[in-house]
Amino acid sequence: MFDDEERRIISKSRYLSGLQCPKLIWYQFNAPDQIPPPDADKLAIFEQGHRVGDLAQELFPGGIYIQEGSWKIENVLADTRKIIRLRKPLYEAGFLFGNSYARVDILNPVSSDEWDLYEVKSGTRVKEVNFSDVAYQRYILESTGMKIRSCNLVHINRDYVRRGDLEINELFTVDDMTETTGPLLSHIPVDLQWMAEKIREKDIPDIYIGRQCTSPFECAMIPVCWNYLPEHNVTTLYSDRAKGFSLIEKDVTDILDIPADMDLTNKQKIQVDSIHTGKVHVEKEMVAGFLERLIYPLHYIDFETIAPAVPIFDGTRPYRDIPFQFSVQVQTSADSVLEDFSFLAEGAGDPREEFMLKLRDAVGNEGSVIVYNASFEKGILKGLSETFPGHSDWIEPLLDRIVDLLKPFQAFHIYHPGQHGSASLKNVTPALTGSGYEDLEISGGMTARNEFSRVTYSDVSEEERARVRSELIEYCRQDTVGMADIVRVMRGLIK
Ligand code: SF4
Repeated sequence: MFDDEERRIISKSRYLSGLQCPKLIWYQFNAPDQIPPPDADKLAIFEQGHRVGDLAQELFPGGIYIQEGSWKIENVLADTRKIIRLRKPLYEAGFLFGNSYARVDILNPVSSDEWDLYEVKSGTRVKEVNFSDVAYQRYILESTGMKIRSCNLVHINRDYVRRGDLEINELFTVDDMTETTGPLLSHIPVDLQWMAEKIREKDIPDIYIGRQCTSPFECAMIPVCWNYLPEHNVTTLYSDRAKGFSLIEKDVTDILDIPADMDLTNKQKIQVDSIHTGKVHVEKEMVAGFLERLIYPLHYIDFETIAPAVPIFDGTRPYRDIPFQFSVQVQTSADSVLEDFSFLAEGAGDPREEFMLKLRDAVGNEGSVIVYNASFEKGILKGLSETFPGHSDWIEPLLDRIVDLLKPFQAFHIYHPGQHGSASLKNVTPALTGSGYEDLEISGGMTARNEFSRVTYSDVSEEERARVRSELIEYCRQDTVGMADIVRVMRGLIK
């Protein structure tokens, strides 16, 4: 009996979905099977959130986990009612008020009858959406008669540096949100009322796509709601989604239909013109100037990193990039073929020392080092030089040899209509060279780091580990070979 009711219950995540977009909560209640499931990258984020949540429980030792791993509301409520009398820290206790439900990460008993509420997040700061999140829980608990003394957000302390064993009290920061959530409480019953009415509507809410599709969360419905857009749609206008959304509200979806009197930036005008003509925009002098700066032997390099929320290695902070892989393509002269060098860390130990030794050998000490979006690779190298000063004698000169291939694309000295308003390597490579990532199992940096972590730090078969490692090498190589191909095409374009 309770299963049917559960389908009608507004949980905290559904409440937050409703605040983000009425159409999203409508789908969650009326057509959940049409919501695309989360992809592997999203699941990895959820998994990291669970691990951080479990660690935060150690801030309040001796507590009781309510129905660990179970989502069955009826059981969670029954256990909470039974265990709450023990006045011990409670993890994941559940409360129902009307048809609104909240499960609290941590409840800690204080005085004889009060509780402190803690919501745990794996981020490093308080975000706007966290206020609604905590206020909702407070509203439900207080409505059921719980006395809440304080409401708090537990999040990762970005300044924590691991030295030896994890120090849980240093890893986390606790922000008191009691005062800031107070004024929000009166809005919640109003929100719940309109959400209940919206859910009951027969028709799908008629809502334009807009900023709410990616904020505060990337909406799972994007593949459904956005699929009517043409290839060159106005949301791809360079560096200005807001302009695109304002056009969509005027029912202009195609870049080719943008009114002539619309205020566009120079780069957007180049984008629109190249779609009209179907030709690559090239500012030959600027491109030639860029290419003249390249000195043989050329080294095309790309790094992959992990950035764990909870530091794994000594001397590292939360979310600090730890390089575990590189690909280098070396071209000694204009006519020579690429020489391929790869490094992919073995085992679960700190990969940085070996990464540096292998990289030093691969890049030598002369010729240009070409990267795409230099701030990333430079940031990694500077961090390594600071942490391992014994390597600064070759890293510092290497920094001076770096040339950023992003620059001519960011400046629109070259623009191909197939870039769809983006200068990212993942857009430029297929547009300019015709080869892309579609045949690769791993096709993005986030997937690469998740997959490396999965096969390195968790229990998988040797066969699976070998399969993923070979895919990682292919993926990283695609980035560097792609860069070399881009430069080859650029040379052709200025002839
Ligand atoms: S994709 Fe956008 S319009 Fe569609 S449900 Fe999500 S937030 Fe709403």
